[in-house]
Amino acid sequence: MSHLFQNCKLTSYYKHLLETLGNDHPLCRTVLPINDRAPLSGELADPLGEEKHRVCPGLIHTYPDKVLLLATLKCAVYCQYCTRGRLVGPGFQTFENSEDHDDVLSNEWKLSDNVFQTLENLKGVRDVLISGGDPLTLPDAELDAVFSKVRKISHIRTVRLGSKVPAVMPERITPKLAGLLTEHRIWLQLHFIHPAELTEEVGLALDTLAEAGVPMVAQTVLLKGINDDADTLTELFYGLLENRVKPYYLFQCDPVLGSSSFRTPVQKGLDLMQELQGRGSGLALPNFCIDAPGGGGKIVLHPGTVLQRKKDSIVLTNYQGKEYLYPDNL
Ligand SMILES: *Cc1c(COP(=O)(O)O)cnc(C)c1O
Ligand code: SF4
Repeated sequence: MSHLFQNCKLTSYYKHLLETLGNDHPLCRTVLPINDRAPLSGELADPLGEEKHRVCPGLIHTYPDKVLLLATLKCAVYCQYCTRGRLVGPGFQTFENSEDHDDVLSNEWKLSDNVFQTLENLKGVRDVLISGGDPLTLPDAELDAVFSKVRKISHIRTVRLGSKVPAVMPERITPKLAGLLTEHRIWLQLHFIHPAELTEEVGLALDTLAEAGVPMVAQTVLLKGINDDADTLTELFYGLLENRVKPYYLFQCDPVLGSSSFRTPVQKGLDLMQELQGRGSGLALPNFCIDAPGGGGKIVLHPGTVLQRKKDSIVLTNYQGKEYLYPDNL
């Protein structure tokens, strides 16, 4: 069994968790390389059209008020459904023989000062989402430098950081790191996909963050056979709330090349939202959202949304009234 993950880039912690859960646990599929990745029509290497909205290396400006800053291309664990597979990590085909992947704290990719200069000139931007890769793979001193540079820009009001590290490398969450996040008033936007990720160690890491005063929300990708049932999602969302993390987004899986084994029909997400809405705490409900293929931005769908169809796609209208197609051919 220990050979199963030999071609995966995992942390020791997450590898141990998956081994404990067993080969058949659905979480294993999210990291195991997939052999058959024949792309379906509508799938793209860059489904969100991020390259089109790249204003300089490391900065993606899709919406007027907010911007995405890619602080590193490293992650602690590489997810097979990753929307940034074109940039991040070992890529789909080229999983090298993995040594232990706990060396992620040493990073080679450096943000250039051009990013902060560009941000300074984007006067309409109030909100920066620091992402990647996973920014918490950077050492504290580098994070401190990035936060300080962003915080120096007077028109930036809110800074958030997207990360899967608390779920896959909980020991990285030290009181020192939590203090750094508090000092710069950073919101954390965490990536959790399954209640089995909410272990005791992860609970302690989230306590460290909550007790330092770091506000936390979570995003979850809806994944076929992994979390696409009401019981699993309910358990995940309540588990997050118990850990003082507000479920923020449930994402329709992006149509990245070779993603069809992970994607669900759009109606499935709407039906699940309908089921969850009736059940319990409103705080436990995220927004169900599709990030419009081609760069239209995030579009929230509600359980009552009637899907408009064009051949094998659904038609989405974004905040500018422009139409985008999501391939819904599963
Ligand atoms: C997701 C995203 C954001 C943040 O969007 P919110 O809906 O405010 O969470 C900002 N920029 C880009 C390019 C994004 O993909
Ligand atoms: S942690 Fe996020 S960025 Fe990294 S591989 Fe997974 S989905 Fe992609």
